[in-house]
Amino acid sequence: MAARNRNRARRATVSRLGPVAASVQHRTENSAPPRDPASVWSRRRVLLLNATYEPLTALPLRRAVVMLLCGKAEVVHEDPSGALIHSASCAITTPTVIRLRVYVRVPYRARTPMTRAALMHRDGFRCGYCGAKADTIDHVVPRSRGGEHSWENCVACCSSCNHRKADRLLAEIGWTLRSAPKSPTGAHWRLLSTVKDLDPAWERYFSDGAA
Ligand SMILES: [Zn+2]
Repeated sequence: MAARNRNRARRATVSRLGPVAASVQHRTENSAPPRDPASVWSRRRVLLLNATYEPLTALPLRRAVVMLLCGKAEVVHEDPSGALIHSASCAITTPTVIRLRVYVRVPYRARTPMTRAALMHRDGFRCGYCGAKADTIDHVVPRSRGGEHSWENCVACCSSCNHRKADRLLAEIGWTLRSAPKSPTGAHWRLLSTVKDLDPAWERYFSDGAA
C-alpha cells in the first residue's frame, strides 16, 4: 500500500516536470563511464541549504530541479562531470548543492536521531576505548545491564575491544572512554543520520559553524 502511494507520487512528480524529465543529456563525450540517465534521476540527491547556507535536507534531484526552474532556489555547486538537464527554455547542469532564495524558519528539534552512520561520524570512525579504526557500535553500559540505546551510552568501537569488553561495565575492567559520549546538535547531524551516501561537495556545509 505504502509502495503504491510512493509510485503514484513519483509519477505525479514526473508528469509535473514534463519536458525536463524527458531529456537528460551528458555534457561531455569522454566522461567515462557514461551514466544511465534513469539512474541519475532515481539515485541522485541534492543538498538543500537555507538562504543562510544552513543545511536543511537532501532532496531527490527531480525536486531540486523543480525548485530551480520555478525560481525558489539557486545553484550553489554543480557537478562538474554532471549531466545537462534540458527544459523547453533552458539547460542547467546537474546541481549538487542548491540554496533557497528566501529564508525559511525551521522548527527547532532538540534531539538528533541516533543512527549507526551518524554515530560513526560523531566518533570520527575511531574506537571510543583504544582509538583504532571502529567497525561496530558498543553500548558503554551493556543493554543486558540496563544500558540505553542512546547517544550518551553508545560509542564507535573496534571489534577487538567490543569482544574483550563483552557485557561488563567499564569500572569492572578498569577501562575509560577517550571522551564522554554526547548527543550532537546542529542541522547537519539530521542529514548525517538519515542520508546514506554523502556527496563530498556537501562537507563544507556540515561544519559546526554552518549548522
Ligand atoms: Zn578498540
